[in-house]
Amino acid sequence: MLACLDLEGVLVPEIWIDFAEQTGIEKLRLTTRDIPDYDELMRGRLKILDENNLKLADIQNVIQKIKPLEGACDFLEWLKSEFQVIILSDTFYQFAGPLMAQLDYPTLFCNELIVDKEGRIANYRLRQADGKTKAVAALQSLNFQVVAAGDSYNDTGMLKQADAGIFFRPPESITKEFPQFPVTHQYEEMKQAFQQARADLTK
Ligand SMILES: [Mg+2]
Repeated sequence: MLACLDLEGVLVPEIWIDFAEQTGIEKLRLTTRDIPDYDELMRGRLKILDENNLKLADIQNVIQKIKPLEGACDFLEWLKSEFQVIILSDTFYQFAGPLMAQLDYPTLFCNELIVDKEGRIANYRLRQADGKTKAVAALQSLNFQVVAAGDSYNDTGMLKQADAGIFFRPPESITKEFPQFPVTHQYEEMKQAFQQARADLTK
């Protein structure tokens, strides 16, 4: 049985929100919680970066200072002792590096930024559309059972596809839309939800 985890909002803070705070650009605070259409969200972000002449290095400088959420490292260590863990994220490898070091290099499937010679983020490349859901389906095709946890709209496909899905600190609007997934707020609760999911699936 595998555990698939979202990254931002589950193990680390929202990278773009931290970046918005550091730069004072309010519009960069929007996330998939606000705009469910990821392409629309990313096009908007890249436009704002251009308007403010911000390069990849500026974002990476901020990410260097981001720490995992309190308790995240211990939770992940526990999860790895109980399940094989894969992090499925819509972030980019160029952003995730410093955070992966702090999380002791878990397996991460995410996307790639296209950066030009001047260090400007010119575009982004998704491995595939709806990658989280398809990753879970692919793992199931290898006869793994998957328990998945996430916090946002971009996780709901993965949670539905998984054999069991868990919300961690989701906005209330999502929990009403997807009442089938247990809602957890503390790592201890999420730990129990993973144990419960495994018990239910191995009945
Ligand atoms: Mg998230």
